[in-house]
Amino acid sequence: MEKRDELYRGKAKTVFTTDNPDYLILEFRDDTSAFDGEKVEQLARKGMVNNKFNHFIMEQLSAAGIPTQMERLLSNTECVVKKLDMIPVECVVRNIAAGSLVRRLGVAEGLELNPPTFELFLKNDALHDPMVNESHAIAFGWASQAQLTEMKRLTFAVNDVLKPLFENAGMLLVDYKLEFGVFDGGIVLGDEFSPDGCRLWDKDTRTKLDKDRFRQGLGGVVEAYEEVAKRLGVPLS
Ligand code: ADP
Ligand code: UDP
Repeated sequence: MEKRDELYRGKAKTVFTTDNPDYLILEFRDDTSAFDGEKVEQLARKGMVNNKFNHFIMEQLSAAGIPTQMERLLSNTECVVKKLDMIPVECVVRNIAAGSLVRRLGVAEGLELNPPTFELFLKNDALHDPMVNESHAIAFGWASQAQLTEMKRLTFAVNDVLKPLFENAGMLLVDYKLEFGVFDGGIVLGDEFSPDGCRLWDKDTRTKLDKDRFRQGLGGVVEAYEEVAKRLGVPLS
């Protein structure tokens, strides 16, 4: 697999083409951003931790029958993935109230959500990723009804795999964001699953072990991500 040109430089990852048009290389950088790119910092080791963490999680999901982009780890900070035609709508499941749900609906942070909620957000930093619904996605041509139904099914299937995985390692999976794309006509999980895009709390103390440490200036961001990886048995170097 030969690395070719830089295709896209996002806020946290750089995407490269390869000699195979069906595959891309994702490079996880140390850049950490919040508030739609308004707060940006470099956090040493974060790219390596998230790359290895994401590879571990995607392998768990693949083993459970969820189609993912993941091909293989390439280096400490890079992995090879299927090139997806990305759907610009983010899927969020919440098991516990936090973040924008608390701000929007005025419910208490920490409230258990049973059944878990499912939300869609348009991926658009300039518009601050507004919440949208299925009819918007269909009317504006972002996704078809069949694709949305499959994205929702897979997003909940991810919860069925990851909630117990984190729980058995002493953590609560509070919420998470997934991005999907199309490969060979089918819906496939893309982008990343890491503490940058989910909320994880210690089960006993409810200590935050995710990007809220960065958003809220709590410090120890990468140390928390490494703690999560250690508890799950993700090999880091
Ligand atoms: P952002 O675009 O929000 O700044 P990143 O820095 O994570 O985010 O950039 C990664 C970009 O690559 C995102 O736009 C994401 O949608 C896209 N992407 C992720 N996985 C794939 C994939 N398998 N195929 C094509 N594009 C992908
Ligand atoms: N999230 C994300 N990228 C985004 C927006 C949200 O990864 O652009 C994740 C976020 O880390 C959290 C979940 O999606 O795990 C729900 O986020 P929320 O809607 O509460 O927004 P926030 O409080 O982060 O603004």
